[in-house]
Amino acid sequence: MLAAVAATEDVAALIYTEQLLKQAATAGFAVKKISLPATADEAEITAVLKRLSADADVAGIILQSPLPDGVERTRVVTGIVAEKDIDGITAASAARLSAGDLGEALLPATAAAVMELLGAHQIEVRGRRAVVVGRSAVVGRPVAQLLSLAGAQVEVVHSKTPDMGIATRNAQILVVAAGVRALVRGEHVSPGCVVVDVGIHVQGDQIVGDVDEASVRDAIGETGALSPVPGGVGPMTNAILVLQAAQAALRLAGA
Ligand code: NAD
Repeated sequence: MLAAVAATEDVAALIYTEQLLKQAATAGFAVKKISLPATADEAEITAVLKRLSADADVAGIILQSPLPDGVERTRVVTGIVAEKDIDGITAASAARLSAGDLGEALLPATAAAVMELLGAHQIEVRGRRAVVVGRSAVVGRPVAQLLSLAGAQVEVVHSKTPDMGIATRNAQILVVAAGVRALVRGEHVSPGCVVVDVGIHVQGDQIVGDVDEASVRDAIGETGALSPVPGGVGPMTNAILVLQAAQAALRLAGA
């Protein structure tokens, strides 16, 4: 079984959880959604995660973002055992990634999705200049680590970077995970750049990313490529989560 814990009223996050569970059910998983109030505290959330960790029927656990105000992610994820951490968010998963020990590691799913997309489109990573916008523990940092492990020369820019464009214009691969609508525009990229948009924003009845698609497509030209939002990273992240749930289930079953 795949279990998702949500302690939020964020509509986009709740829609996302539903979509993920539907996809997992289509893949043959039993699924369970545990909805906690958006006011749940660390003790409540950790207790639910611990219960799921101890439940022999549960193979994979997802903790949906955002968390309630004042709840520290690093503290509550201690409730998830590493073997069921299919989103790669526990300290044990992060340590494996830092050590470059990818064999058995359950990876941060969105970061793994970025790498899977690059691989599926035969984008050469080794030896190329890659820039990651954003350094969060769940997306930016693990993407940078995976790109580096794959042989890229990686630079990370973030909210304290005085002029992001100096780095991004030099990028051959640009991964944007800042959570700022239309942050990256045509003036920030060079012809031939491969741009992967990770951002998700709900704008009316539309979903948009961190990249201004029209101006960036213009600037990268025919030789560049863009993984857009919607599409691209979002659906691939779900596929990775389901895949890692299957891997976790097989390992837990001793297969
Ligand atoms: P976060 O808020 O935790 O981190 C954002 C990072 O971007 C920070 O490191 C910050 O320094 C940097 N940043 C913020 N403003 C910036 C600016 N003006 N210039 C440069 N850097 C800036 O967000 P997150 O959890 O990493 O998510 C980032 C985006 O990716 C969000 O839009 C989120 O919804 C989306 N997301 C998508 C998926 C998916 O499956 N597609 C999964 C997780 C997150």
